Amino acid sequence: MSEKDLPVPFAAPDIGDAEIDAVVEAMRSGWLTTGPRAAAFETEFAEFLGGDLHAVALNSATAGLHLALEALGIGPGDEVIVPTWTFTATAEVVRYLGADPVIVDVDDDLLIDLEATEAAITPRTRAVMPVHLAGMPVERGALAALAERHGLAVVEDAAHSFPARSSGTMVGAGASEAVVFSFYATKTMTTGEGGMVVTADPELARRIRTMRLHGISRDVFDRYSTPGAGWAYDVVAPGYKYNLTDPAAAMGRVQLRRAGAMRDARASIAARYDEAFADLPVDLPPHAHRPDDVHAWHLYVLRLRPEAPIDRDTFITRLGEVGIGASVHFIPLHRHPYWAQTYGLSDADYPTAERHFPTVVSLPLSSGLSQAQVDKVVATVRTLLGGR
Ligand SMILES: *Cc1c(COP(=O)(O)O)cnc(C)c1O
Repeated sequence: MSEKDLPVPFAAPDIGDAEIDAVVEAMRSGWLTTGPRAAAFETEFAEFLGGDLHAVALNSATAGLHLALEALGIGPGDEVIVPTWTFTATAEVVRYLGADPVIVDVDDDLLIDLEATEAAITPRTRAVMPVHLAGMPVERGALAALAERHGLAVVEDAAHSFPARSSGTMVGAGASEAVVFSFYATKTMTTGEGGMVVTADPELARRIRTMRLHGISRDVFDRYSTPGAGWAYDVVAPGYKYNLTDPAAAMGRVQLRRAGAMRDARASIAARYDEAFADLPVDLPPHAHRPDDVHAWHLYVLRLRPEAPIDRDTFITRLGEVGIGASVHFIPLHRHPYWAQTYGLSDADYPTAERHFPTVVSLPLSSGLSQAQVDKVVATVRTLLGGR
């Protein structure tokens, strides 16, 4: 196949024989729903992050964000501050509970702006949800200080940031009330669909475990595996159906063992892009600022400068014409009709997001990419943006 015909998917999954064998083993075991593999996945995930943590496996990060806020008692009349630069899931879960997201601007790294956050706090504010966009860690110290000053809970949307470190601490092992990871197909490790909530608070973990399975006090595996009346259980709340299956958890356990190596492979592709694009009319993605930060490199978000020979939309179209997938992360929340109309948001309230939105493009970044695919992205981007 010539380079011209080599497709470069935007988010190539990195699934090998070990993942396939693990899923097959789970299926042959006869345990198809949440069982011993999901329990082991939770233990191993908490161990990976270090610290004395509870990890609760779920069928999505969206479910995790929902249950974390639910367990914190957030409901009608409450406000939760979220950045405009995120996926709609971060804000929608606040609405699930009848509370209101307060959508604030971001800084030039596309991370939640702490000044805007502070300015948005009212007597109704209960929590803030930072997003470690693209895998770039939000600075924990300043955010934690702000939250503590105002008595707010912090629920981190860590859908992009496994594995990452903020000031030396693993994202997930800090002192936030809850941290939520995504194992969606395009994320840094995957179970197809899946997510994990991590918390140091045993009461919060207990509530999340109960609510992930119908508000039942004991899950099926617990009833099956502990002696006594296996059929007996109590419904203590109108819960949800958010549990992760064992075949999915089996895939996740293998991905977890490979997570460090996959992150390093993405980091080296990002470094290759940085070097290859340094002389183009672009701004390279921000790097982690503090020496003991670790960027997960989930996304490589390039920004086209005004002097670039083509605009962002044309650039993405041209990439697509030669088989290279590219995307935009994200269309800011204030630009979506539901959020804009429900909360009367206008573009003028989000000057930093507005400045960056027309310029951003996410290039393919995955440990599943071959050298030839990365070479093709480099050569094509250089040609389209006038590199010599
Ligand atoms: C993907 C994503 C989510 C949702 O993850 P799911 O596992 O698909 O529910 C939430 N927030 C951000 C920033 C995401 O990118």
